[in-house]
Amino acid sequence: MVSQQKKVIIIGGGISGLSTAYFLQEQSKKNNVPIKIRLIEASPRLGGKITSEQVDGFVIEGGPDSFITQKKWGMELIQQLGLTERLVQTHPVEKSVYILSEGKLIPMPQGFNLMVPGQLLPFALSPLISLFGKMRMGLDLFIPKKKSSEDESIGAFVRRRLGEEAVQLFAEPILAGIFAGNADKLSMKAAFPQFAMLEQAHGSLIKGMLKRKQGAAQKGQPTPKWSLFVTLEEGLSSIVTELKNKLDHVEMDIGKPVTSVSPTQPGYEVGTGSEKQHADALVITTPTYKTAEWIEEWDMPLCALLQKIDYVSTATVSLGFRIKDVPHPLNGFGFVVPRKEGSAIMASTWSSTKFPGRAPKDHVLIRVFMGGAYRQDITNQTDEALIATVRKELQTILGIKADPVVARAFRWQKANPQYYVGHLDLVSKIESACQQHSGLFLTGAAYRGVGIPDCIQQGMETSEKVLKLLLHPSRKS
Ligand SMILES: Cc1cc2nc3c(=O)[nH]c(=O)nc-3n(C[C@H](O)[C@H](O)[C@H](O)COP(=O)(O)OP(=O)(O)OC[C@H]3O[C@@H](n4cnc5c(N)ncnc54)[C@H](O)[C@@H]3O)c2cc1C
Repeated sequence: MVSQQKKVIIIGGGISGLSTAYFLQEQSKKNNVPIKIRLIEASPRLGGKITSEQVDGFVIEGGPDSFITQKKWGMELIQQLGLTERLVQTHPVEKSVYILSEGKLIPMPQGFNLMVPGQLLPFALSPLISLFGKMRMGLDLFIPKKKSSEDESIGAFVRRRLGEEAVQLFAEPILAGIFAGNADKLSMKAAFPQFAMLEQAHGSLIKGMLKRKQGAAQKGQPTPKWSLFVTLEEGLSSIVTELKNKLDHVEMDIGKPVTSVSPTQPGYEVGTGSEKQHADALVITTPTYKTAEWIEEWDMPLCALLQKIDYVSTATVSLGFRIKDVPHPLNGFGFVVPRKEGSAIMASTWSSTKFPGRAPKDHVLIRVFMGGAYRQDITNQTDEALIATVRKELQTILGIKADPVVARAFRWQKANPQYYVGHLDLVSKIESACQQHSGLFLTGAAYRGVGIPDCIQQGMETSEKVLKLLLHPSRKS
């Protein structure tokens, strides 16, 4: 039992901060450990990158639009929050993803897993990849696996196994696209460990993928209950609203930016302007460049490690149209744009095809991603300029000339953390450095996974560490 009621402060009310607060609250109740929990959020709303709007029957997501079900932490939290009934699955049939190639939308060959052919015939027949490109990708069957376990970039990995065309068509727009980053800088091990493991286990990505499929077919594995990605009827902000409702033992300071953090003996003093609060344990979920500002004065080496994590800026633009004004069939989840196409956009989701209920009857919703490592400057533009650019691009690609009935732009400055080569080692160093400061915990998208389920997992693990420390203060965190 904790002798005297201890106080935990959590900085940041995005999904990482909120889930840390939730798990901490639930575990303290369960273990009968009374603790005070206070969450401090700078902006006037909770949710961080998660922000959904209902506009004239459209459900518009400014940041994330869905999360992956293969990582259990998202689905488990949804269940605990009582939101399972409100989950929405992706379209069961119209699942194609297109790639813009010389101005035309060409579907990814059937069976493709991000960049690895999972079915040979559709791959062989696809007009997307040149004959040379296909032959080079096929060499994956013969190229020996890498001997060293050293990290390498996504670009280097894919170039080595599948060739340059696969880098340009798949690795850059799809794999690096998830991070809005540069494939030649992003870490394979941190971002896509499954492919590095596939190579090590099977000596070839294609062989590994085919074997996996065969194995699944032989075992007669049941079809998963949920589609790979899911969202919520009223948008992902429902998670934030439900978390807020459940946080009945958490005090909140919303709209109060933290301005300073300093160690005290024991604990930490957290400043919000002239106000100072003491915490026995402190969880910081803010972007690392912000966290580094507070730590600079009392741990320069930790600050320097945090500053090594780079961020890029992105924007999303959502446009609603009447179906009759869209000449191109929206028969898929959307498309990605390789860099060589020279377009101002990175990718587009056909939101109202991907998920039901995103647009009112006889309307469609299209969402576009912009910015990222190569076009960060675009996020300095006004909403009107962003919308105008997207309309121009959609006119060229989808032939849409009509005015949208709804248009919303969201800019995300320095929002997407980049997991560069060596990221996992860097995070281990950050964690070791943190252990020198009892009661200090850094968590969130910058460290061990950017997806919503990853952030929830990190929040859960952090809450366990905090509770352990408060129960056994003599042991190291
Ligand atoms: C455009 C976009 C699309 C995405 N799409 C998907 C997707 O479809 N699926 C998916 O799983 N993931 C997606 N992601 C990633 C995912 O949304 C994020 O990684 C995740 O939401 C980050 O959560 P977080 O709590 O770690 O950080 P944040 O959401 O950034 O939360 C940090 C919080 O700290 C607050 N803060 C900052 N400074 C201070 C201060 N001084 N004092 C107090 N508080 C402060 C911020 O206001 C913010 O609320 C997307 C991200 C973006 C940008």
